Amino acid sequence: MSGSTITPWVIGNWKMNPMQADASALLQDFKQLLNNQNIAEDSCHIGVAPVAIALSAVRDELKQANRKILTVAQDLSRKAGTGAYTGEISAELLKDSAIEFVLVGHSERREIFGDHPQIINEKVKNALNAGLGVIYCVGESLEQRESGQAEHVVLQQICDIAAVVQPAQWKSIVVAYEPIWAIGTGKTASPADAQAMHAKIREGLSQITPEGQQMAILYGGSVKPENAVELAACPDINGALVGGASLNAESFYQIAQAFANTK
Ligand code: PEP
Repeated sequence: MSGSTITPWVIGNWKMNPMQADASALLQDFKQLLNNQNIAEDSCHIGVAPVAIALSAVRDELKQANRKILTVAQDLSRKAGTGAYTGEISAELLKDSAIEFVLVGHSERREIFGDHPQIINEKVKNALNAGLGVIYCVGESLEQRESGQAEHVVLQQICDIAAVVQPAQWKSIVVAYEPIWAIGTGKTASPADAQAMHAKIREGLSQITPEGQQMAILYGGSVKPENAVELAACPDINGALVGGASLNAESFYQIAQAFANTK
């Protein structure tokens, strides 16, 4: 037991996967595992982040689960409300579709799609103002880690959003620390390294907001059943953002169970 009083979160980021039939089978299998042995709602928040086109179907499918499972959007527009913004989905439209949470700042958005800090701030602000919870992703590259800048980079990413988060909105934010070199590579930060960065993030958050001590900080980067128990035992690791392993119902279930059991 870590002694943390923060309820853990395990969120599956499906990224640009899977096809409809496979998504449906994945959810059926996951719900079946929960039917066989449920994970108490107060022991772990569980959610999945499907592609935008599947959000409504997944939301409806998850209503039939025997416990709450959040449907999380992978991204949102930098533009708020409604209007002439072809291809975009605003925070208000997500909220209108009963979506409660959204990922912002994932390294794939930052690196491949040019989400720089100003864009990320607009997205965070829009999400919070529309009443969505934000899973805010931060993390350093391998080059930044090897040159000793990891802590500085990550804390700067935390400070970046402080400009747009109102004091009362911090409680709607979950932070996900995802070292870029560990995402989809099979390499995981050691529990000691991950814990050290999580403790720094908590310190940074606590200097910005009194909520900092109670905010959930998730780890992401090749989390799998084999490393979940060890990661979950770290006091400042309050859950996981899971990519690849969330596409397998049994693996995702075991990760959720690992976090639910150790907290
Ligand atoms: C992610 O996409 O957020 C992630 C952590 O992916 P993976 O678990 O596959 O490394």
